[in-house]
Amino acid sequence: MTILLIEDSNGLGAAAVQALGEAHFRVDWRRTLAAGYPLASDPKIALILLDRGLPDGDGVEFLRRLRAEGVSTPVMLISERGAVPDRVSGLDAGADDYLVKPFAFAELVARCRALTRRPRGIEMEPVKFGFLLLRPDTLELSIHGEPLAISRREGQLLVALLRRPGRVCTRAYLEAALYDPHAAVSPNALETSMSRLRSLITGMNANVEIKTVRGVGYALTEGGLS
Ligand code: CA
Repeated sequence: MTILLIEDSNGLGAAAVQALGEAHFRVDWRRTLAAGYPLASDPKIALILLDRGLPDGDGVEFLRRLRAEGVSTPVMLISERGAVPDRVSGLDAGADDYLVKPFAFAELVARCRALTRRPRGIEMEPVKFGFLLLRPDTLELSIHGEPLAISRREGQLLVALLRRPGRVCTRAYLEAALYDPHAAVSPNALETSMSRLRSLITGMNANVEIKTVRGVGYALTEGGLS
């Protein structure tokens, strides 16, 4: 399990890396917001530990931007600023936890364990669209309450489409949701999975349609009941 640590203090950063390492967390440590940003939305990151005062900006502003961009990774703010309004502003910006410096490393580790144990909010809730109901965690699909067998790949594709219901999903977005970034993927792989998924749900009168947006991608829309 990998934690992204964004902290400019060398002493604190090194001690946190050591304490978390002993608790079997991998830590990717970055010293600026700019260096941490590309990693913040990486699905391998289970938790972000975010300092407030960083050389290139304010951690709380950075967090607000991540949440606005849809990054739902748990974030724990770590800061010397421990007054109630500071903590409230951090939590309001989208932090899941707030730890005031100086802290005991045992407490840091315990809180990291708690945050990484917690299921990722909406990702675990069943998603309903038309007459489709999909559980993103188990990829169990039902239509009109009837369970329907779906392959893992088609299930992941449906999860990705359901994250943007009624909106266009680009090929790049769908491919990133489906395939490992280093895998060699055939150019037709996405079309093949999409056509399987389309025939599966079209035959079930789910009142849901997968529209092709030529040259761009696909959109899952309601309607199309035959
Ligand atoms: Ca700092």
